Amino acid sequence: MSEAEEQRWVSVMLDKLAAQESRRRAPGDAELAERAERLSAQYFAGRARPATVRWVTNQNTRWGSCTPAEGSIRLSHRLKGMPEYVVDYVLLHELAHLLVPGHGPDFWRLLEAYPRTERARGYLEGVVAAERLPRPPGTRGE
Ligand SMILES: [Zn+2]
Repeated sequence: MSEAEEQRWVSVMLDKLAAQESRRRAPGDAELAERAERLSAQYFAGRARPATVRWVTNQNTRWGSCTPAEGSIRLSHRLKGMPEYVVDYVLLHELAHLLVPGHGPDFWRLLEAYPRTERARGYLEGVVAAERLPRPPGTRGE
């Protein structure tokens, strides 16, 4: 095998491995990780570097969660279908927890960099409030 052939073979194998790897992950997780990287770069000068970012379906009372020791971020699947600025806010919120634990003034100062924090929080509060409204008779709840 010539060096050129060998190089080509290596790159083909690497492409195959990368494709397998992305198939193993749940749909949408790769996009989510890219989005986290982009948001961290844009608002936190790239300082928040999660090890994993993924969608989860077992989180019904929280929109997102973060385990700073592991660098893992999880977003509730309930956010899917909500406006992008809302998903971005929740992702940024969890990214900020990699830098500042808790919800003290330092935490909210970080989030001030994102111009739609208040709007996104209002949207999510509205969703929670709407879920608590009594359902009209004859409709079935989930
Ligand atoms: Zn929080």
